[in-house]
Amino acid sequence: MIPDYDYMANKFKATLVTWEDIDRWCGKISRDVADTFKVDTIIGIARGGVVPARILSDRLWVKDMLSVKTEHWGLTATKDGEAVLKTKIDTDLRGRKVLVVDDITDTGESMSVAYNYIKSLHPDELKSATMLHINRSKYVPDYYAELITEKNWAWFIFPWNVYEDLNNLIRKSISDYADIDKVRESLKQDYDLDTSNLDIETILEDLVHFGKMKRQNNRYVTVQ
Ligand code: AMP
Repeated sequence: MIPDYDYMANKFKATLVTWEDIDRWCGKISRDVADTFKVDTIIGIARGGVVPARILSDRLWVKDMLSVKTEHWGLTATKDGEAVLKTKIDTDLRGRKVLVVDDITDTGESMSVAYNYIKSLHPDELKSATMLHINRSKYVPDYYAELITEKNWAWFIFPWNVYEDLNNLIRKSISDYADIDKVRESLKQDYDLDTSNLDIETILEDLVHFGKMKRQNNRYVTVQ
């Protein structure tokens, strides 16, 4: 869910997350976990939690990593019904101390669904971690690196989601062919998104290559 104020205008804040942010957040989580919980199995919630889970498996020296998949949000910043578990695991968790990992708890529904499912597989102990935690989430993870107030809600564009998110944001923002400057300007205007550190041209060309956008001369439009 996005805050009500601009929902009708289809405008909201979007923020680019850097690898430095990811490193800092995973570093904090790994130190907090290492001090309090002897993990032997990490489960990443696909897709957003897979990379953080892999980084934590490195930092916590845990080689046993699995994944479950939940689905909840549809197109960038648009909810797609109730969170549901899409992929289960075929592993007996008895005797294991498990850390379940996601990128962010926003509504908290995905983590809640995954946590309850993993709990039903009878691990010895189960704890949860997310890099970001929005304070209105109905689920509070045992570990998180940063608390975001609802007032500071944004759609966080993680480095592993740049193409999907930008394609969706551009589609929402621009309905006709636009050049790169216009794309940057619209993203700034509609989502307060600073793209100065992004190689937008390469991203747009790749989106054309994959059939997500069309180009006419130096102007681009999303394929609807
Ligand atoms: P939720 O069930 O609402 O806690 O979120 C489920 C998943 O949707 C998260 O694991 C993220 O991958 C994605 N997501 C939800 N809210 C955001 C957000 N504000 N920014 C980026 N991704 C989000």
